[in-house]
Amino acid sequence: MKLLMLILSFNLIASTQATEIEIEYKSWISSSDRQHVETWLKHGVETTEHTLGVLQQQTLPFIIEPSLFASEPVPWGTVQRGKPDAILLQIKRFTSSRVLIKDWTLYHEIAHLYHPLLDHADFWLAEGLATYLQNVIMLENDIFNVDEFRARLISGLSRGAKNTQLNKGALQAMSEQMWSLNAQQRVYWSGVAFFMEAEIALQDVGNKNTIKALISSFQRCCKSSLISGDRISGRLFIASLDKLSKTTIFSNLYANYKQRKDFPALSKAQIYSLQPLR
Ligand SMILES: [Zn+2]
Repeated sequence: MKLLMLILSFNLIASTQATEIEIEYKSWISSSDRQHVETWLKHGVETTEHTLGVLQQQTLPFIIEPSLFASEPVPWGTVQRGKPDAILLQIKRFTSSRVLIKDWTLYHEIAHLYHPLLDHADFWLAEGLATYLQNVIMLENDIFNVDEFRARLISGLSRGAKNTQLNKGALQAMSEQMWSLNAQQRVYWSGVAFFMEAEIALQDVGNKNTIKALISSFQRCCKSSLISGDRISGRLFIASLDKLSKTTIFSNLYANYKQRKDFPALSKAQIYSLQPLR
């Protein structure tokens, strides 16, 4: 723990400079679209770093694929792990930065860069964390208000519960076969429920750490030692969160969640009690 604290304080001094972005376009884009994309990406990195702390990489490359026929502003996004990690995003042409900023995809993908690449069986943990954090980032940066924050969580959890009717195996097995089973809603939202339960458990014991603060600390103290492009087990990541919060909340919940065949039932009262920015 002493060593952890030492590394932590060193990195606090070393890494206050905001991450610079680099943009590569996969196909031709008008100068007007280009400006909107630039404004949007800068805003996305700034807001995410405001919530989760400065990203521990000097540059963040974005690969943008403009598309003419899309039903939403940002139909698709993914992280490309490497040195440095990069983000690929498909965007609908002629979309203003104002509209792009309201889309969740960018916050979700940047949030992924704050956790290590996890085993396929722990996909629920990675997707749950990025989905939970995307909502926390959008709330904290006034992209939406607390009513919208709660409404999005409630509707996502209900999609997860519905999808569980079709995919009833253990969560870690469902995670491994997520694409072939079309079990995304169950996998993503079980993971969100996990972090919501952890947030509430931290609040209930009067622990001052929020999920966003723990992820921020994790990235500063442990990202370079854990992330090497190789997948690591969720158990290791969870052990770090326990250590940072000085609790066993995460490992206890993890042992239960990875095996569970049901969808976690969170009441409206629990959702309303959430204080992710406390
Ligand atoms: Zn994701």
